[in-house]
Amino acid sequence: MKIMLATKNPGKIKEITKILQYPDIQLLSHKDIEIPEVEETGMTFIENALLKARSSSDITGLPSIADDSGLEVDYLNARPGVMSARYSGEHATNESNNLKLLKELKGVSFEKRSARYRCVIVFTRFKNDPFPLISMGTWEGFIAESPKGTNGFGYDPIFFLPKFKKTSAELTDEEKNSISHRAIALKGIENYFVNQHNNSDDK
Ligand code: IMP
Repeated sequence: MKIMLATKNPGKIKEITKILQYPDIQLLSHKDIEIPEVEETGMTFIENALLKARSSSDITGLPSIADDSGLEVDYLNARPGVMSARYSGEHATNESNNLKLLKELKGVSFEKRSARYRCVIVFTRFKNDPFPLISMGTWEGFIAESPKGTNGFGYDPIFFLPKFKKTSAELTDEEKNSISHRAIALKGIENYFVNQHNNSDDK
């Protein structure tokens, strides 16, 4: 089965491809089939993930997986939230987003720097699918005072995990992919693939 990954984010593509390893599933992305970028106009992660998955299935005719994710900081009333990728403006980079967040939390004590990553995965089986699969994951942590580590992407250098005494950018890919918000959300749709596989004639 061919499945489109409805994202251009190389960090997400790398993680999702590593997590969804099934011999009978070929994951394609916008790198393989060019489709116009969807404007993320939703107020929620669910709306945005649904927009992306639906548009991908409608255009390519293929089953599609979309990820909408981001960081919620309690002290900032759940910001940056759905604006995570564009937090520091139109030309935002991971570094400029991290700097903006660190500036906003300057002088704020550790206990008040609690945060979490959220991820919504939507899987549309075909064009106009009336029953998209929706799965969610959350990963709790704190915002560090300065960046550390080079793995992962986005806010990983400043997302501190007390249990590991490390930021998520200091974890190995395997460590992050076994506990992250994305890994948890993908587990929910993995059940669908496992059932498909068990029901197929060529198993
Ligand atoms: P989206 O492409 O609109 O879903 O934006 C997701 C943004 O949230 C990314 O560009 C990152 O800034 C942030 N984000 C989501 N997941 C992660 C993660 O696993 N690590 C670091 N940043 C993340």
